[in-house]
Amino acid sequence: MAGFASAGDSHTGEERLARFERLMEETHGLGGETLVSYSVQGFLRQDAAGQEEPWLHLSAQATLSLICQRCMGPVDVEVAFERDFRFVATEELAEIEDEESEEDVLVLSKSFNLLELAEDELLMSMPPVPKHAVCPKPVKLQAADPNFVAEETEKPNPFSALQALKDKGLG
Ligand SMILES: [Zn+2]
Repeated sequence: MAGFASAGDSHTGEERLARFERLMEETHGLGGETLVSYSVQGFLRQDAAGQEEPWLHLSAQATLSLICQRCMGPVDVEVAFERDFRFVATEELAEIEDEESEEDVLVLSKSFNLLELAEDELLMSMPPVPKHAVCPKPVKLQAADPNFVAEETEKPNPFSALQALKDKGLG
């Protein structure tokens, strides 16, 4: 990977979602034929001491079949990220420098797996509560559910999920 970075190489590719076990768990096995596209660019950047360090710019995107938490129907959610990573020589350095750095620090190793890293980042980019922007149809089951009514009367609010947890704790 150091060689990849120092050569300034770039690569784009696509992999079937089925190749990513942990993402497939999130979709409950749906969409295995969907393609996850990714793009990686290696480059060198000088550190404060003028030493060149290998960096990686990685982005990936996939459309995942998730379950809408409002109507419990399937919802396609696009998940994407774009991020810089800096490589260091040892695990010890990585631990120290990850604390001090804004960018993510990775250890240079032969076992480095680009797709695994892309999968980690995609998992972290998933919405905590997947929902349709507008649910395709009101579902009878939920219309009769008091929780559903309560949620519908609330204004959309990024903290509503948190509030719901608090409410549960207090109730
Ligand atoms: Zn929905």
